[in-house]
Amino acid sequence: MPDFSSGKRYYTYDAYLKKTFGQKCLKIALDGGFTCPNRDGRAGFGGCAFCGGGGAENPLGSRGRPTPSDGGARSFASPAPPLPLRLQYEKGREALSKKWGEHPAIVSFSSYTSTYAPVSVLRALYDEALSFPDVVGLTVSTRPDALPPDVLDLLSGYAARTVLTVELGLQTVCDEVARRLNRGYPYSVFLEAFSALRARGIRVCVHLIDGLPGEGREEMLASARALAALAPDGVKFHELYLRRGAALADAWLSKPFPLLSREEYVEILASQIELLPPATVVERITGDPLRSDAVAPLWALDKKKTSALLDKTLAKRHSFQGICYNCTN
Ligand code: SF4
Repeated sequence: MPDFSSGKRYYTYDAYLKKTFGQKCLKIALDGGFTCPNRDGRAGFGGCAFCGGGGAENPLGSRGRPTPSDGGARSFASPAPPLPLRLQYEKGREALSKKWGEHPAIVSFSSYTSTYAPVSVLRALYDEALSFPDVVGLTVSTRPDALPPDVLDLLSGYAARTVLTVELGLQTVCDEVARRLNRGYPYSVFLEAFSALRARGIRVCVHLIDGLPGEGREEMLASARALAALAPDGVKFHELYLRRGAALADAWLSKPFPLLSREEYVEILASQIELLPPATVVERITGDPLRSDAVAPLWALDKKKTSALLDKTLAKRHSFQGICYNCTN
């Protein structure tokens, strides 16, 4: 629920963690060495047009910039973490503890498609990550078309023994826009995966991108409305930002197309948050580009400024998350 005492008018991930675990938690990103079915040919080639490698929101994972053969060169059957998981965990913990102090950790497989491997391989990776000291939860980011029944059953087991979140990339509910961006699956596949996860009691967080080519304010609100009707456990929003390696960045560099300004993005984002159920956790409100790879818009590099503008905008509207949930217009 929105926690006005924290100055936020939406249900933040930090508030959710404190409610669930009684204290702040660190979220430590791990790269399991997965590839992606939209890169290795099982669902498509080339990846989503907004993906610079690593995933829709992961700047570059821990592997550096992708090469044309990046996806295909990695093995579906035996993905190899680029660094031993324990080393990744220790490095991540050290860096985050310096900033936030010592806290329990959620381990997060967030690079590429982190359910895209045989169940025995997934089990070994997830079990190892959960064995690290002070780990209290597991997050796995994936595509809705990479959740076959045996993987869903595996995930059910983790949901029963830890706080598991499955993050599903969606970005938009509009199939035509998604098709042009080479997302590689229709909205109906997302709906099937979402239902299958929820039917197994698995916590689901959905990713949306605002400012995709071909979408205006109404289309972005339509995605938020559709998600609100599903009442996901969490939503991650971010603005479209272009990074080197992404097909959209190449397209923009050869022929620039309009990108959202910070003010436009925050105005739409505030309206989307108003549409969400109060109990849905707003787990992210901006992207997290690396300065070295950012192409445009460069305002995306200043996340604090975007967050402050969102707070100001909601306060100015005397508004908060859920104020328009279930509104009929
Ligand atoms: S599914 Fe994710 S990792 Fe694969 S190409 Fe799309 S954004 Fe990138």
